[in-house]
Amino acid sequence: MGGESEALDETGRVKLRKPPMAVKLRQTTFLDMTKLLLLGTGTPAPMVHRAGSSYLVQSGDERLLFDCGPGSGRRLLEAGVNPAEIDHLFLTHLHYDHCVDFPYIVLARWDQGVGRISDLPVYGPAPLRRMSQRLFAEDGAFGPDLSARTEHPGSHYIYEARGGILPRRSPEPQITEVEDGSRIESAGWSLDVAEVVHVQPQLTCLAYRLTTPDATIVFGGDTAPVATLTQLAKGADVLLHMCHFINGAVTDERLTCCCSGHLDAAQTAHDAGVRTLVLVHITSQLETPGVRERVLHEVAQVFDGQIIFGEDQLTVPLGGIDMEPVR
Ligand SMILES: [Zn+2]
Repeated sequence: MGGESEALDETGRVKLRKPPMAVKLRQTTFLDMTKLLLLGTGTPAPMVHRAGSSYLVQSGDERLLFDCGPGSGRRLLEAGVNPAEIDHLFLTHLHYDHCVDFPYIVLARWDQGVGRISDLPVYGPAPLRRMSQRLFAEDGAFGPDLSARTEHPGSHYIYEARGGILPRRSPEPQITEVEDGSRIESAGWSLDVAEVVHVQPQLTCLAYRLTTPDATIVFGGDTAPVATLTQLAKGADVLLHMCHFINGAVTDERLTCCCSGHLDAAQTAHDAGVRTLVLVHITSQLETPGVRERVLHEVAQVFDGQIIFGEDQLTVPLGGIDMEPVR
């Protein structure tokens, strides 16, 4: 008896091999305290539908931004969030596909805030402080812009028209360099840091575990499979994991030693026992029609939790996944 005949019942109808998904029907609009929005799910390869890595968390009345790759500032605006409304920025590493909108967010916040919004707290691996200084110092990349905006009469006029009070000072992001084992505690959340394996020694890459009163979210950063990430993600509600290629389709160790494929993400999610795995850092290899479906099927063979294929502007359910009723 083959598998196919076993799937037929006595009337010849096909039986479901597995019970239907255990999902609840969505009956009410329940607003969780913590929300997770995928702003950018792409890679360095320019894609119109995938900005560079960036994820927004709303926790209570605070907005936490994790990474800000190319296009993420625009994605923020599309989501109805002004860069001035970000309360904390966390960078996993200083590859440009994770941080190139850092100066945009700092400058837009500072410019529109007209001295009324505090400087942005930013956390990330060294040399984040040096990068910030070389962007915003008097002799930095944006030094001429900043001297024009703080000294030219035309800029003074606009500044005062917006309600600012002269003299005007330059932005000074509040930089905190963090490393493996760092822990940041705030009134409404805490953050644990682990180093992952990406492109050391040139760049240090970090993963973050965010704990809020009602959710635990782990941002895996860019990494090869590594025990430190599995440990960091133990029992988390959500793990966002790099899914840069299809395991087996890429075998060159120069890439597999620093990045993860779909089965690597699945194994880490399984070993960590997370509730939901979100595949992010998606390349075009995974998007070919039929390939994406195969990827999800194979991930589900390894990890039996909830699986979400990341898309820009997708709100990730932090608890169980509800099913819309048919109307
Ligand atoms: Zn990346």
